Amino acid sequence: MKAEVIQQRSLLELADLDAELSQIEHKSRHLPEQQRFEKAQADHREANDRLAALRLALDDLDAQIAKFESEIEAVRDREDRDRKMLDGGAINAKQLTDLQHELETLQRRQSSLEDSLLEVMERREELQARQDNELVTIDELESELYEAQRARDDALAVIDQNRHQRVSRRDELTAGLDADLVSLYERQRANGGAGAGRLQGRRCGACRIEIDRGELARIAAAADDEVLRCPECGAILLRVKDGN
Ligand SMILES: [Zn+2]
Repeated sequence: MKAEVIQQRSLLELADLDAELSQIEHKSRHLPEQQRFEKAQADHREANDRLAALRLALDDLDAQIAKFESEIEAVRDREDRDRKMLDGGAINAKQLTDLQHELETLQRRQSSLEDSLLEVMERREELQARQDNELVTIDELESELYEAQRARDDALAVIDQNRHQRVSRRDELTAGLDADLVSLYERQRANGGAGAGRLQGRRCGACRIEIDRGELARIAAAADDEVLRCPECGAILLRVKDGN
């Protein structure tokens, strides 16, 4: 295949653009800003999960508190009733002993219920403090999430702009290139490597392998418009020099 030196130079620019485009793709997939954003999302989600668990635990404690309070109330009512009967005086000795015994039992029960209530209220206070802390944390994480998202979007916008510039230039170059040359280039690229590379001294710019003397002699003897391939990787081997 033949291609004018000007065509070869455009092809080299195309290969450089494609190398830059794959760097841009790699960069966009490994953005530290994206990692920061994902970490902020995960931290925020975890804090909200902890908050939800705390709210459930607090609801449970509130139910326990209400239950103890109503039990204490019932015991107190019973004590009041017993005391009124004692104060009324219209009871016999057996009833007096029974009532005094019941009052002692009720007082022990009340004291035990009050101890339990105190324990639950202390536990509630502790969880309430943790909930307050969690809310502060979530506030901070929301700011971080917002900042991280903005930084990620900014980074992606820069990448998009860079990609767009190169894709536009790529379209221009491809439109000006010989269709057979482009299709040879694309076929070679489809194999996974670079489609074309500059001959740099004795090395192929696409695969970086040194070309042996015999091949180099053949390359040196070839006409400028001869389309050469790297004997190692098959890339189109371009002999154009910068400003040439
Ligand atoms: Zn090569």
